[in-house]
Amino acid sequence: MAKNNNGDNKLFCSFCGASAETVGGIIQGGKDIAICENCVKRAHTLLNQKQGAPLELYEEEYLPMPSELKKKLDEYVIGQDYAKKVLSVAVYNHYKRIKYNDFQKGKDDVELEKSNILLLGPTGTGKTLLAKTLARILKVPFAIADATTITEAGYVGDDVESLLLKLVQNADYNTNTAERGIIYIDEIDKVGRKSESTSITRDVSGEGVQQALLKMLEGTIQGIPPKGGRKHPEQPLLYVNTQNILFICGGAFEGLEKNIARRMSKQTIGFAAESKQISKDDKSLLEFAEPDDLMKFGFIPELTGRLPVLAYLEELSEEAMMSILSTPKNAIIKQYHKLFEIDGVDIEFDKDAKRAIVDKAKERKTGARALRAIVEDIMLPIMFDLETVLKAGKIVITEEYVKTKDTNLLYK
Ligand code: ADP
Repeated sequence: MAKNNNGDNKLFCSFCGASAETVGGIIQGGKDIAICENCVKRAHTLLNQKQGAPLELYEEEYLPMPSELKKKLDEYVIGQDYAKKVLSVAVYNHYKRIKYNDFQKGKDDVELEKSNILLLGPTGTGKTLLAKTLARILKVPFAIADATTITEAGYVGDDVESLLLKLVQNADYNTNTAERGIIYIDEIDKVGRKSESTSITRDVSGEGVQQALLKMLEGTIQGIPPKGGRKHPEQPLLYVNTQNILFICGGAFEGLEKNIARRMSKQTIGFAAESKQISKDDKSLLEFAEPDDLMKFGFIPELTGRLPVLAYLEELSEEAMMSILSTPKNAIIKQYHKLFEIDGVDIEFDKDAKRAIVDKAKERKTGARALRAIVEDIMLPIMFDLETVLKAGKIVITEEYVKTKDTNLLYK
């Protein structure tokens, strides 16, 4: 019988010292050796690590390696290679940290800190899509919030509680699962901006919101009313610990490039001859963003400190936009193709038609966001005219049709 130091005749795990009564199961190996269920799992994880196998995310889920994560992201997100690499590494490390801290709690003097992520880049370049796709790949719950609707607790608006409630709902009310989920906070740049218009009911740009976000990002235990709404003394609360939730924040950071240009020009004084011309309106300067620039933009230092991983997303090129129309697994053109195929109709978009769709989208200046709406708009007359389409059996969408939406052009 494995004994503890007190010499009791009780069964104890020889590895962690837990008694049989406090753990789920315990296996006795020899006269003085036993191992508990938890240590079996830990040993299994360690052995897997040694053999280069993927780490266990939690019991049933596996954590893919960074390169594998990126490959998966490639199936849904076009371009943005740099951001994908940064995210794959950060996400892998995040879940590895959870495992490590769970395992090493109290046994090591190194505590791995959480690294939340900040995505910088113009509207419609894939920030939300990246966060959403990662959650999907990892099979963890996901919730989106708009920083401009988050308010300090007590103000009118979406507070931190309702955001966490969304995550818990997406985890089927399993708080353990929710605590390992991903939250995407959009338009984070808007809380950094010092605005002159201060509303009495909503403090969207003040420090209060940043403080509320900070608390959540740092890790707090938040009680939430499971049905939403206001807290009632008689309603039992659900408690969610945000310590292990991964926060991905995103924003366009319009104007930040000016701060960066200013800093970079100062740094390059004296090297002017060699340095390339730094234009203060160059959007690609966001690539060189540093915490200092964010603070000048109006972020409190503590919030900047809690977003140590920065990744920049590029403006999408025409080629990338064309590829978005037809390449990803859920590309809009692929979906229409399938939809018509079910009715035995072959539908095709020629290259110039795709280019015309992209041109229309570019006019709206919302990146790839407008593509879907434009395609839906040009498909509506065709979908409506289904009898004729069925008779035709094959349709080629041309540039002329995209521009005129004249269905007569299709059945000539
Ligand atoms: P952001 O969050 O950067 O403003 P989103 O991720 O919400 O942009 O993009 C809006 C939509 O545009 C997405 O749902 C997707 O259909 C499309 N999209 C944007 N960027 C990409 C991309 N890089 N690859 C594939 N689709 C994209």
